[in-house]
Amino acid sequence: MMLAVRLHAVGERPRLDEVPVPEPGPGEVRVAVRACGICGSDVHLLHGVTPTGPLPLTLGHEPSGVVDDPGDSAWAAGARVAIAAGYGCGECAACLADRENVCPRLVIPGIDRDGAQAAYVVVPARALVALPDTVDFATGAILTDAVATPFHAIRRSGIEAGGTAVVYGLGGLGLHAVAILKQVVGARVIGVDPLPAARERALAFGADEVVDSSEPARAVRAMTGGGADCAYEFVGNAAVTDQAVKSLRGGGTCTVVGVTPQPLHLGLPQALLVAGELRLQGSFGCSRAELAELVGLVAGGRLDLTGTITHRYALADFDAGLRTLETKDGDPIRVVVEQ
Ligand SMILES: [Zn+2]
Ligand SMILES: [Zn+2]
Repeated sequence: MMLAVRLHAVGERPRLDEVPVPEPGPGEVRVAVRACGICGSDVHLLHGVTPTGPLPLTLGHEPSGVVDDPGDSAWAAGARVAIAAGYGCGECAACLADRENVCPRLVIPGIDRDGAQAAYVVVPARALVALPDTVDFATGAILTDAVATPFHAIRRSGIEAGGTAVVYGLGGLGLHAVAILKQVVGARVIGVDPLPAARERALAFGADEVVDSSEPARAVRAMTGGGADCAYEFVGNAAVTDQAVKSLRGGGTCTVVGVTPQPLHLGLPQALLVAGELRLQGSFGCSRAELAELVGLVAGGRLDLTGTITHRYALADFDAGLRTLETKDGDPIRVVVEQ
């Protein structure tokens, strides 16, 4: 038997249950979990914003650990691994093009099936990415989602060194975006957030300039002499997406990562979208190749994420970690459960 953090009903606090240790099926691997991030998506699950698989369900979709039972895979027992936040069917056109994140049969452990806020988790062998000794387990865990998600969005945007990027929403995802844009891409970065503390933190993470959110698009256009090359929306608010699009120069691209059920409503004339050849695109999760690349960037010292994990909890204290994220007490960036 093992301990697992289980959601029994939407709106109820998750419970620490004793459940059987899961057995790997064909093509699957059992991983002994060493670290697993708690994320805004866990809060959404708790409050019914995001639908889940059948309940009760073990939470946790941002894990790293050590291969415990390799099953029929080529992985060695004891191998250090990060686990991709989701995996596709492995057979459809999206999966064959390394775009499992948009597979119509995408499965996210911790949302669609039992996840990794437990001593062990079982996932398909192809969901694993090797984690070098130089990357600690907590960092490996947050790479899988909290860092990989902005990394994929930045890749999709096509921004280049010297380009100007504006990041809307300077929470966990937005701060990681700032770090990647500065350290990996070499872009000029403008951060936007209504909270002064969040703007201060973005400057500490390398943002070149920050603006508050009263009329950010106008401010960004003035600061950049016409608009940014790329804008990113990490808030999950249709009004912010509208501002993000309006902060672009001609030929610019807006990439939306924040999730909300609100309908998109752009307040700019359609003629401006056409004449400016603006692009508006969504971005979700990341590819397996991108996660492996990201692990390599951190292992090779190209991306320093020191300071983004602000809170660490034991598995038994999961609920305290979740509350930290809900209340924002202590200004959490990333909250990680360690075992
Ligand atoms: Zn997440
Ligand atoms: Zn697929």
